[in-house]
Formats: sequence, structure tokens, C-alpha cells
Amino acid sequence: MAIMDERRAVIQPLNKVWYKGKVAALDMLRLDLLHPVVSGNKWYKLRLNLGWARDHERKTIVTFGGAFSNHLVATAFAAKEFGLKSVGIVRGRQEQLTPTLQECREYGMELIFVTREDYTNRHQPEWAEQMVQHFDEIYIVPEGGANELGRAGAGLLTRFVDKSYSHVALAVGTGTTMAGLRSKLDATQHILGFVPMKQTEEQRHYVAAHTPANMAQTWDLIADTAFGGFGKWNEELLRFMNEFYAENQVPLDVVYTGKMMYRLRGLMDDNHFSSCDRILCIHSGGLQGNVSVQEQLVYTV
Ligand SMILES: *Cc1c(COP(=O)(O)O)cnc(C)c1O
Repeated sequence: MAIMDERRAVIQPLNKVWYKGKVAALDMLRLDLLHPVVSGNKWYKLRLNLGWARDHERKTIVTFGGAFSNHLVATAFAAKEFGLKSVGIVRGRQEQLTPTLQECREYGMELIFVTREDYTNRHQPEWAEQMVQHFDEIYIVPEGGANELGRAGAGLLTRFVDKSYSHVALAVGTGTTMAGLRSKLDATQHILGFVPMKQTEEQRHYVAAHTPANMAQTWDLIADTAFGGFGKWNEELLRFMNEFYAENQVPLDVVYTGKMMYRLRGLMDDNHFSSCDRILCIHSGGLQGNVSVQEQLVYTV
């Protein structure tokens, strides 16, 4: 796809002041610079799926998500670039379109709203097929791009991860990106996944199911204990994000990467790492999710 120039994803060393000699190196892979709409890791999860659909004469991509889903927007945009139609099956009837859903529509995605109860059927292909009967040649991408091609696409991120890193830190939603990366990365490199939710069971189950069993000791998931769960934030998080921007000139998003870096900093302060560890943090994008807090941030999305 011509829209994606992967050379834009650079590795940026963070300001030494920020990690205060706690580790030997702390760098950030700036996937947020890849594209303004198709947020970082979403591209990697979609690229092989869309390529497969196109090569097999599928005409319509069908996928799933909530009213604030970065995956839905990314799919709407990328499908259009691939010359494919897209349909988004959206969790919950919406009184009003959120900015995310409006954007999906602008990129030509047809939205189908279902109740939260009906949405629990999303893993059953027959249910989805019946919902999109009036479209032909469909290809279903699960919620969050969580399928084999999604994981394989995420595995391509290993090209950015030099062997010298002892740790990789990334934000986790479904666990697809983490599972893909874990399967391909050297076993000596530890992966820390930061889940911006109170629970990590679902993600733990997913990553365990899709990575080699002998890798079980090489990854960890950390829940959001400070901010109260998915999409929740407070003044302290925004202050942290503004400070991080001032010190590193890196804009973080309020849902995923802001919480990841906040918690990573906490772990460093608690001496969780050794001073010779070298950490690569993955900035997975998601900056459009900052619209709701824009007025309180010193940087714009
Ligand atoms: C979707 C998303 C994630 C989560 O990715 P998974 O592969 O579902 O775990 C992380 N960060 C950002 C910014 C996202 O938009």
C-alpha cells in the first residue's frame, strides 16, 4: 500500500534525564509517525489480512469494534486504500456518532449497530455473515485484527528490535501485537505488556494460546491499577503526558501509551530493572484518541 512509508518509523532515544540512570538505554519505536489515521500497530495487524483479501478477490472487509475503536478507523482507511469496501459492526446502539465513528463513515465504512448482547456473538462467523448478507465476497477480520494474519503481521515488527535490547515494552489491548512479536522475537528478550484495564486474564489467555509454551517465562502483563480501567484517566496522567512531551518531544495517547509510560516509569523508580538493561518501548499510535482531552494537553494530535 502506497500510503505506508515504513521509513517514517524511527527509533528515538529518550532523554536521559527521564530515566535517570535507572537503565542503560530507553528508546522508543515511533510507530505513531507511520500514519496519522492508521495508528501504529494497527497497520501491522491489517496489512497481511488486506493483502490476502485483495489477492483472493474479496470485495468487502467486515470487522468489529466499539464506538472509540482505533481498529475500526484504521480498517476503514486501509480498506479504502486497498480498493476494498468496509463494514463495521459496532458494539452498542449509539445516540450520536462519536468522532471515531464519524471518521469511519468518512472513509466509506458502512456501520451496523448491534446491542451489547448481540455483540457477544462476534466470534461466530455465521452470525456476522448473516448481518452482511447484502454484501458479496466478504472477508471477516476479527475484532482488534486478532487472527493468524494479524499476529503474523505484528511479527514483522521484529525487524525494528535490535538484539541488544533486553526488554520490549508495549501497550496491550487484545494481545495480538504482543503474541505476534513474542512468537518471532529472540527468547532472551523479555516482553512487558501494559494492559490499560483492571484485569489481564483475557489477554494472558490469548497470548499464552498463541505463543510457544517454552516462552511462558519470557513475557509479563501488567494491569492498570492507577487510573481505574479502560479509557479512564485523571489529572495526574495528563500532567505526566505533558511532562513527558516537554522532556522527550513525544506525544503520548491517553488510552494506551500514556499509561504504559507512566507505569514503566514507576517500575524504574521501584528498581524493577537492572542498570544494564536496555529497553525498547513501542509507541503504537492512537493519538486521535486524545481529542477528548485536547484542551488539557500542551501538544496537539
Ligand atoms: C489497538 C491498540 C493497542 C492494542 O493492540 P493489541 O494488538 O490489540 O493488543 C495498543 N496501542 C494502541 C495505541 C492501540 O490503538
